Amino acid sequence: MKFSDLGLSEEILRAISDAGYDTPTPIQEQAIPYVLMNRDLLGCAQTGTGKTASFTLPMIEILAHGRSRARMPRSLILEPTRELAAQVSDQFETYGKYHKLSKALLIGGVSFNEQNTALDRGVDVLIATPGRLLDHAERGKVLLRDVKVLVIDEADRMMDMGFMPDVEKIVKLLPNIRQTLFFSATMPPEIRRLSSKFLSNPKEVSVSPPATAAETISQALIKVSARDKRKTLRDLIRAEEVQNALIFCNRKRDVGILHRSLTRHGFKAGALHGDMDQYSRTETLDQFKAGKFNILVCSDVAARGLDIPAMSHVFNFDVPTHADDYIHRIGRTGRAGKQGRAITIATSEDNKYLDFIAKLIGYPIPALEGLKTEQPEDTTEDSDSIAAAKPEARRGSGGRRPKPSDGKTAKKPSSERKRRRKTSAPAAAEQDDGSDSLSFGKEGHVPAFLLRKP
Ligand code: AMP
Repeated sequence: MKFSDLGLSEEILRAISDAGYDTPTPIQEQAIPYVLMNRDLLGCAQTGTGKTASFTLPMIEILAHGRSRARMPRSLILEPTRELAAQVSDQFETYGKYHKLSKALLIGGVSFNEQNTALDRGVDVLIATPGRLLDHAERGKVLLRDVKVLVIDEADRMMDMGFMPDVEKIVKLLPNIRQTLFFSATMPPEIRRLSSKFLSNPKEVSVSPPATAAETISQALIKVSARDKRKTLRDLIRAEEVQNALIFCNRKRDVGILHRSLTRHGFKAGALHGDMDQYSRTETLDQFKAGKFNILVCSDVAARGLDIPAMSHVFNFDVPTHADDYIHRIGRTGRAGKQGRAITIATSEDNKYLDFIAKLIGYPIPALEGLKTEQPEDTTEDSDSIAAAKPEARRGSGGRRPKPSDGKTAKKPSSERKRRRKTSAPAAAEQDDGSDSLSFGKEGHVPAFLLRKP
């Protein structure tokens, strides 16, 4: 099938062709004709499937005729994060280049004044995160009575982030007669139930069964103790052919810690988390896309919707506590038919979450085979470098000691203990500043600062 078979106008087809696309993706093939027929839509599709264009393309067509009035947008797209909202806005720019549609982006971290000016001029397409939109609505700066098309994107994520009450408030401000497009990467029963509140006789489209990990992603799991995680991650990055990678942490605080640690160890890394202002986020993302650094440490919220087509690796520095997040995270690699690699670092504390993931994807994440830990700098050890001596990390590099059960470490040979004592002074440089780096009296380990010469 070609884009020209979908009922889109010449102008849009030209813009699609300028963007370098000629064949619609499966979600576009299924969704576009129904959206053009003004049907409500319930779409189950992950990011990376071309789902954004599946609603932006027909919306440009629908909105091509008619004029907007001041503060009364003609369509509304709700996104859970600023980055996703910005990406949707970019797509309207790309595909709407031969149309004269006006748009505004209402996201946090950007001045209200600028947004008010855009609203006053009248917008055809309003793209917003729920909180900021409600702020404007409550101040009377935006009236939603004229909205003809509503898109609720990434509904499962909206729910996870606690935005659904805001979404419901917003929908109450909209006219009952409208077209609604509802997208979610997964379709658990509560999302389906919720969707029925917003949709009327929707056409259902789905491009991959919910929670399917793409076949182009090779997944692996490595189990280590908590304090070995950073060292293991460095070993993994060195052992794998990493062109560019996202590294996910569960907590914002850890994003900063891990970023500093990686930078100190000579990796070119950046960080992205929800507390950063919009300017820093955009700048970081632009630098990452431009290849100024090839590793981006991030939290789930910050990484949501990042559109970086050729990501070679995803590392889960922490096992996500929601299994859905695992699918979202690893879905950042192996996109558009390219091979990708997703490696998860786990501790024995994570077994429960690994079980959730196994249940969701239908199999346990396969154990990593043959990680080599051969970097000269790591012959100087610290609390962070014990992974080199751990059986899991030594597999494939000749380490044949029996594997201890989860969470327990094998006793080290006495020669190794001696070597550790002798060489631990320079380890100060290797020491990280995170909470998991210092340990007293465990396994003969002596913290570096006790051994440092005065
Ligand atoms: P999305 O699922 O909307 O996040 O889109 C993922 C990526 O696919 C984006 O980089 C889009 O520009 C790209 N894309 C969208 N439509 C197509 C298409 N028909 N063929 C190839 N790539 C596409």
